[in-house]
Amino acid sequence: MSRTPLIAGNWKMFKTGSEAVATARRLAEFASDITNIDIMIAPPFPSLALVSENLKSMSSRVNVGAQNLFYINEGAYTGEVSAKMLKAAGVSHVIIGHSERRQYFGETNEDICRKIKAAVESDLIPIMCIGETESQKKDGKTFYVLDKQIQNGLQGFRSNELLTLVIAYEPVWAIGTGNTATPEQAEAVHSYIRSEIEKMFNSNLAEDIRIIYGGSVKPDNISELMSHKNVDGALVGGASLDADKFIKIIKYNRIK
Ligand code: PEP
Repeated sequence: MSRTPLIAGNWKMFKTGSEAVATARRLAEFASDITNIDIMIAPPFPSLALVSENLKSMSSRVNVGAQNLFYINEGAYTGEVSAKMLKAAGVSHVIIGHSERRQYFGETNEDICRKIKAAVESDLIPIMCIGETESQKKDGKTFYVLDKQIQNGLQGFRSNELLTLVIAYEPVWAIGTGNTATPEQAEAVHSYIRSEIEKMFNSNLAEDIRIIYGGSVKPDNISELMSHKNVDGALVGGASLDADKFIKIIKYNRIK
């Protein structure tokens, strides 16, 4: 098994350009000695190019991700940003289908499928977010919901188009609530997701695909989460806004 861990920070709608650059630079300094892990931060759209230029000038390994994209390359779509534009701004990763986009902006699994396609076509690494809400969990529908999100979100792809895809399991009840899934819960769901990828595609893709966990990840719970074999990293919201906290997460205790 040779899946490089990915620790990704989702800054959501926080930080102006100068704040984003300051945090990114601090992070890049702290992370300069880390080589065996992929690191990504996703600032808001207006800061992407600025953060990316700053990190490049520091020869940093910290990658820049976007929090969303639109699936058409250009046109009369006021307020939208395309994969091509992200690529030109120095972006390498893109978060797709975050639960806040599904919940507040009505994104469907079909939209998410188109967005993943646009990302893949522009050589961006898609991070597809999936996860059940609290009431779906209470109703025993977790696996049903995940199946739909995976099957519809990845419909029509060939496995060789998904070699860079990252799946982020983010139970909605754990996002921003302090209620992290237990490491055992996360491992059980990640293992299920891997088996679904095997059924839908093949065992090679299932073995290679990175499945990361998101939902109230903090410096004090990351090591235990990462000790599980099917947890390949984390998507971190609140705790990624502070460079000191985020670096503690990145420097988790690496024992598998
Ligand atoms: C997220 O928004 O993707 C997230 C996981 O947030 P938090 O870490 O704050 O729960």
